[in-house]
Amino acid sequence: MSDRQLLVSKIENGIVIDHIPAGKAFLVLKLLRLDPSARVLIALNVDSRRLGVKDIVKVEGSYLTSREIELIALVAPNATLNIIEGWKIKEKRPIGVPEVVRGVFTCPNPLCPTNSKYSPPRPIFRVEAGDRIEALRLHCKDCGSTLYYGSIIEQIDRGTISLEGGGLVSKGKIERVFLDLLLRKGALRLPPSAREPFILKSGRPSPYFINLGVLTDGESLATLKWAFASYIALLLEQGEIEDFEYIFGPSYKGISLAALACEGLNELYGMDKRYMYDRKEEKAYGDTSADRVIVGAGFFKPGQRILVVDDTITTGATKMDTFEKLKLLGPHKVVGLVVAVDRQERMGDAERVEEKGAAEYIEEEMGVKVYSIQNVEGIYRIIKDSLDEEMRRLWIEYYAKYGTTTLE
Ligand code: ZN
Repeated sequence: MSDRQLLVSKIENGIVIDHIPAGKAFLVLKLLRLDPSARVLIALNVDSRRLGVKDIVKVEGSYLTSREIELIALVAPNATLNIIEGWKIKEKRPIGVPEVVRGVFTCPNPLCPTNSKYSPPRPIFRVEAGDRIEALRLHCKDCGSTLYYGSIIEQIDRGTISLEGGGLVSKGKIERVFLDLLLRKGALRLPPSAREPFILKSGRPSPYFINLGVLTDGESLATLKWAFASYIALLLEQGEIEDFEYIFGPSYKGISLAALACEGLNELYGMDKRYMYDRKEEKAYGDTSADRVIVGAGFFKPGQRILVVDDTITTGATKMDTFEKLKLLGPHKVVGLVVAVDRQERMGDAERVEEKGAAEYIEEEMGVKVYSIQNVEGIYRIIKDSLDEEMRRLWIEYYAKYGTTTLE
């Protein structure tokens, strides 16, 4: 392997941003606002056939959203994005200058409505690209003011740009922020001792209890919105799920999650999806029209695609009801199921333990893949060092008996 190849491919999983103009690597890093624990490799002034010299930035274990890719184009318009999986380049993507930038920068005109103190509209800039990077300009759609290249760089450099909780969203970051929320708000509870486990609806004596119903304050909702939207954007970026037109949230817990996810996708990632939910009280849905059972169905066109979101998967059966109701819409495709937490348990009750887990059941019965923001492995990994020996044994034994995964 030549030195050239080595420089580009020597990470296991993540991204390599290549062909950054020399000296601009640190600006790219500032734009990405990386998680402090992210593993980053930077190469400066590397020989390049195309540019003479160039910079390279590699980020381990991370992916970029399309919005972030567009922003990189403002400082490194001819850069290439390499997506690395298993030490190999899985995909090479040129980074193109966007036509429009939403948010991020501040309009230079202090009298612009976007700079008003009370609920200003988000600034939207039309991008004017020149033949040289320095000729790049942003024009404010509200007042027509121009933001020149120097000011763009200055705003990035000063760190006054706003990515609204964006930055490089890795799965690890989403998991950590989400688990932190569960713990701080009391949505994840541990029993007082190993002898007093929580008895679940299934009758199983659980070493923990998760209740997303306590996440009703504004801060929790903002974090839920960020976590769901960022995870869905990540799944789309990685090609894990197909693009879709609707987010469906089964009543009652799924309704607010679907609404938050839609809003977050629009605000943070510029995507416009609609949400739908079902009415629980409508019993005789077999012979009524779809929009009497499913709110939002009036917009649905045959063949459109739906992502389902929910808080958790307890039994596969409740999710099967959801898929049954969706049939009222006529021809459609469910592209995936995104849940906040997967308990990773086998179906059944305290005595009866079936072979399959709920996620596996849904995948096999419906052909719908299940994705979770957090699961019990992630939760246990973080909290296990704070558990005493007896409590740890409770977790391990519980999962040995009921789990689709084993803990140690
Ligand atoms: Zn303006």
